[in-house]
Amino acid sequence: MFVVMNAAASQAEANAVKSLILAEGLVPYDHVGAERLVIAVVGEIGARKPVLISRLEALGGVESVTPISRPFKLTSREFHPEDTVVRILDAVVGDGSLTVMAGPCSIESREQLRETVEGVVAAGATIIRGGAFKPRTSPYSFQGLGVEGLRYLAEERERTGLPVITEVMEPNQVDIVAEYADILQIGTRNMQNYSLLTAVGRVTRPVMLKRGYGATIEEWLMAAEYIVSSGNPNVILCERGIRTFETYTRNTLDLAAVPLLHHLTHLPVIVDPSHATGKRWLIKPMSLAGVAAGADGIMVEVHPRPDEALSDGEQSITIAQFAELMVSLRAIHAQVGDLHGDPVLPNAVLKVGGTGKL
Ligand code: PEP
Ligand code: MN
Repeated sequence: MFVVMNAAASQAEANAVKSLILAEGLVPYDHVGAERLVIAVVGEIGARKPVLISRLEALGGVESVTPISRPFKLTSREFHPEDTVVRILDAVVGDGSLTVMAGPCSIESREQLRETVEGVVAAGATIIRGGAFKPRTSPYSFQGLGVEGLRYLAEERERTGLPVITEVMEPNQVDIVAEYADILQIGTRNMQNYSLLTAVGRVTRPVMLKRGYGATIEEWLMAAEYIVSSGNPNVILCERGIRTFETYTRNTLDLAAVPLLHHLTHLPVIVDPSHATGKRWLIKPMSLAGVAAGADGIMVEVHPRPDEALSDGEQSITIAQFAELMVSLRAIHAQVGDLHGDPVLPNAVLKVGGTGKL
């Protein structure tokens, strides 16, 4: 549930509300809205709910107490109606601008990263990506350059001034990755690694949480809830495709997830057409579709010579293809504008579960 304080409520009144919440063994979280303070009550409330609501309503400065209907609380639009805008160096994600994260699947050498970065930055990428610790399906595949790769990535941030994003796979890597990178990526295989989620929740770097390849939207938001409730509000969601019965594509890009997420949560949403399709020639149409569906941006794999890539070459585009993609992407983005404020979305009646139809 959340407690809306009235516009004239004092700090002492807000503190009294928080003391009552803490005395019940629950945790209060502030959200300073445009006009008033909202305090979320998080924890296992159970049968205490009606009594707790009346006790909170009786306190000074309290305007209303509203239950949050969703299992995710801090990440829900109900609690936090305004969009979360994540600022990293000069880049902004979630403010209606177009975010384009681009770079190689794996950092293979300083030269390969530099050549790619020069190309994508010249074409308009806003954030640089590159894998240093790689979660590979086969233990015999290239596993990434590790800390050496992180150093090359940090050099590119220094040279270009753009933020860099890379994956962290284990709780004990969080500190070193946070030392070199501006955004921490949690990969699909780790979406429900709760000790990792809690660990990235404790650092000050923004986190991009990719959707688990077998996760429902609710499970994904509950994973985001772990990060936010551990103290890190700067979470970006990335739809990267889910596993279905279809085999022509590596995964199935769930595009409906984009407007659905904007309805359910205030967190920004990025689409990754590379891992979603696994096919170079599908990246352009799916990137355009993602932005047309209201995504805050895309993450795309780019390699100067994709056929020589040590990982994911078949789904990496060339620098020239990236530059061409940017032209179309900007045009689509200009047409679509910012879909977050679409008045249809908040009023849509959403039923959890299937439609009952095949
Ligand atoms: C990646 O972006 O490098 C990656 C491994 O993606 P995913 O976790 O979505 O497979
Ligand atoms: Mn990849």
